[in-house]
Formats: sequence, C-alpha cells, structure tokens
Amino acid sequence: MQHGQYTKKVLDYFKNPKHAGDVKNASGVGQVGNPVCGDMMKISIAVKDDRISDIRFKTFGCVAAIGSTEALCRIAKGKKLADAKKITSKDIAKELGGLPGIKMHCSVLGADGLKKAIDDYEKKQRGKKTRK
Ligand SMILES: [Zn+2]
Repeated sequence: MQHGQYTKKVLDYFKNPKHAGDVKNASGVGQVGNPVCGDMMKISIAVKDDRISDIRFKTFGCVAAIGSTEALCRIAKGKKLADAKKITSKDIAKELGGLPGIKMHCSVLGADGLKKAIDDYEKKQRGKKTRK
C-alpha cells in the first residue's frame, strides 16, 4: 500500500494524533482487535451528563487504523452517548475525506471500540444502581 492512496487528513491524523493515550479514571474502556492487519485498539472514555467529555485511544496498527481512530475521537467528543453509538465507519471515512476500500475494516474497528467502551460504561452504571 502506497502512502499516496491515503488522503492528507489520514496522514496528518496518523502523524499528529491529539487523542492518543488513556483517559484518567476512565468511565468506560473498550478493546478490539482486527486480525486482517493485526491492529489492536483500546478506547477509553470519560462520561459526564450522558455525554462523552473525553476520549482517548491507544492503537497498535496500520496508518488507516490510527488515522481513523483519531477521526473517531474528534467526531465522538462532546456527543451524547446515544448519538456516539450511531457513529459508523462511513462517518469516519467522511471525516477523513475517504479511505482506500481495503482499509475500511480499520475504521470499523474504531467504531466498534467506542461501542464497547460505551457498553462498559453502561454496565458499570447498572452495577451501581443495583447495589444501592
Ligand atoms: Zn488496518
């Protein structure tokens, strides 16, 4: 795969991700893997008033996986949980100005990781309620 097949934005997000790392005291964490490129991804979120107040990612993966997860973070931050769950690989590809077709699975990974992180958060919330 040549770099020329990626848009400028993918390469920019890959080189300068603003959301790399872990959220401290995360409200929810989602971990996913992709056997096609060997991408591994961890998404951590902080939730305040049903909104994603902070989101960070750790990705070991290809250019598309890192670029698309950065795009996902930018889309998801500040969104209500219900809306964040609806983010799809299409939204991510749009933010990036397109992705090579064979790399679409890498952007699906970010969307899946976010859904898992939200699930994790909601499970914890339910746990708290039943304990009361
Ligand atoms: Zn990949």
